[in-house]
Amino acid sequence: MKNLASIKVIKEILSDSGFKFSKSLGQNFLIDENALEKIVSATELTPECGALEIGPGFGTLTQRLCMAAGKVVCIEIDSGAIPILQNNLSDFENFTIINDDVLKCDLAAIIKEHFDGMSVKLAANLPYYITTPIIMHVLEARLPIDSLTVMIQKEVAMRIAAPEGTKDYGALSVAVNFYAIPQVVVHVPPSSFIPQPKVSSTVIKLTMRDKPPVEVASEKGFFSVVKASFAQRRKTLLNALSNSPQIPLGKAEVSRVLSKCGIDEKRRGETLTMQEFADVANMIFK
Ligand code: SAM
Repeated sequence: MKNLASIKVIKEILSDSGFKFSKSLGQNFLIDENALEKIVSATELTPECGALEIGPGFGTLTQRLCMAAGKVVCIEIDSGAIPILQNNLSDFENFTIINDDVLKCDLAAIIKEHFDGMSVKLAANLPYYITTPIIMHVLEARLPIDSLTVMIQKEVAMRIAAPEGTKDYGALSVAVNFYAIPQVVVHVPPSSFIPQPKVSSTVIKLTMRDKPPVEVASEKGFFSVVKASFAQRRKTLLNALSNSPQIPLGKAEVSRVLSKCGIDEKRRGETLTMQEFADVANMIFK
């Protein structure tokens, strides 16, 4: 089996195949054994599990997933990487490659077709240009998966894991925490990739919740309140909510709602707990 975490091996593949890294597809391939180990061990795979990988590239992580899981399905958009990937995985039989854009895939149907009845875990070194859309695509679809263990830009990981009241806490923190419990696994420097990205990275594990931590009458309404509260961070809650086109209430009505919820209207969105967002949303969107 080729050691794909070796920069020498990657350079040989590039020279033999003529493959060129695509910046626009976020192709920063991992060459750090320790980071790979951390992703695989945090994913907690057994031979009874299925692993879903997004963006396998040359298959560096895929090889390890094939060793630890019963079955692996990987989705790669770049058709130029597919023959290389097939070649690099030739020691394994428990994988399926899907050449497609993950954002256009029916992930629920893929899981049903390939992993029916298995416990499924998602693992990936995600392309940074669409990290948040991919994570939200997976979370909002409420897929039957246990967890997502993903390498993402450090700054995005910090926003996801930020507690309320901190400067990193925002709509993304609330949205991800609504569906999953985040846990930072390890920080990874640019030198762990080829080519090196301009930013630092972090592996984060998102363990899916059985149900959201708060009860909301309308999920759409809840997320409208969250987005409106963070849209203009420096505004008071009263102004942010009453100026938002997503909130169908005027200033006086917003003031009444906040007062009924026991929330000072001068507070800013970043100080609200998930429960307080839910209280406000449940009063506006019944
Ligand atoms: N897993 C490999 C590794 O760790 O070395 C490559 C990771 S690289 C950061 C991201 C991978 O995602 C690339 O192979 C890229 O072609 C692929 N990719 C980018 N956009 C994608 C999309 N919309 N759907 C599926 N794969 C995508």
